[in-house]
Amino acid sequence: MADANAECNIKVLCRFRPLNQSEIFRGDKFIPIFQGEDTVTFGGKSYVFDQVFPTNTTQEQVYNACAKQIVKDVLGGYNGTIFAYGQTSSGKTHTMEGNLHDPQGMGIIPRIAEDIFEHIFAMDENLEFHIKVGVYFTVTKTNLSVHEDRNRVPYVKGCTERFVTSPEEVMDVIDEGKANRHVAVTNMNEHSSRSHSIFLINIKQENVETEQKLSGKLYLVDLAGSEKVSKTGAEGAVLDEAKNINKSLSALGNVISALAEGTKSHVPYRDSKMTRILQDSLGGNCRTTMFICCSPSSYNDVETKSTLMFGQRAK
Ligand code: ADP
Ligand code: MG
Repeated sequence: MADANAECNIKVLCRFRPLNQSEIFRGDKFIPIFQGEDTVTFGGKSYVFDQVFPTNTTQEQVYNACAKQIVKDVLGGYNGTIFAYGQTSSGKTHTMEGNLHDPQGMGIIPRIAEDIFEHIFAMDENLEFHIKVGVYFTVTKTNLSVHEDRNRVPYVKGCTERFVTSPEEVMDVIDEGKANRHVAVTNMNEHSSRSHSIFLINIKQENVETEQKLSGKLYLVDLAGSEKVSKTGAEGAVLDEAKNINKSLSALGNVISALAEGTKSHVPYRDSKMTRILQDSLGGNCRTTMFICCSPSSYNDVETKSTLMFGQRAK
């Protein structure tokens, strides 16, 4: 058992955002009770994760607790994936991206970009680095039946895949990727608001003296909102889209929980396009971290419970 766990390296971290203005105005109750570093009680049930971040946790604290080590590992030749899971407005984008251009508000991705270049500048001069970043996102084409995969979640590649030499260039690629996604989503389905967004950092290094090579890649995935179809009151194309997204999220949940159980031979990677893409960066020797993002409000309690349960399956 201990061996399987060491190999799987799956960490599940839970973060609660504060109540927002409209929730306070409506008089919603603040539900979670935080106990110690790793436990939250929600609606009478306790959930244990690798770590629980209460509402006042800063972006820097979140980064230091999870991503800092992953950056070192990726520079050491490992692959990894960090996900953010949760209903719309639970804090996924805040956690993964935050405010890209504000030192305190920056989320995980911009901090990783800065950290990587800091490490590189401090490393052996004989090492040559090639760093490529890419931004990808999913858009569901609801009225097209050819060339679609089983989950009907075609991946649209932004033209934003590029070699970078500074953190600023990384931010440029992200900004461009966001603009591209906006255009693609608007063109394909004007009612669409849910898509997975994937940021990839690929680091190749070579020692020019010894010709030794090392490469590692890190996927940073801001998942589409996990809310149930019924609550959104969707119809037609939007309903199809919601179903497809929920299918791909449950396929991801199945992969993660199979990995967590250590049943390596039965990991259903092929059940969704996303898990196929991420296959070589999930499980095995990889570093996998899942952020479970939650609203504290009584108004969202059913969704929050379902999100907490999703996280528990990975433990
Ligand atoms: P999601 O990406 O899950 O839909 P967002 O990250 O966009 O949700 O968060 C929704 C809103 O809540 C945003 O305005 C965001 O700035 C705010 N928010 C989210 N998490 C936090 C947090 N931990 N602290 C303060 N504000 C937060
Ligand atoms: Mg978001």
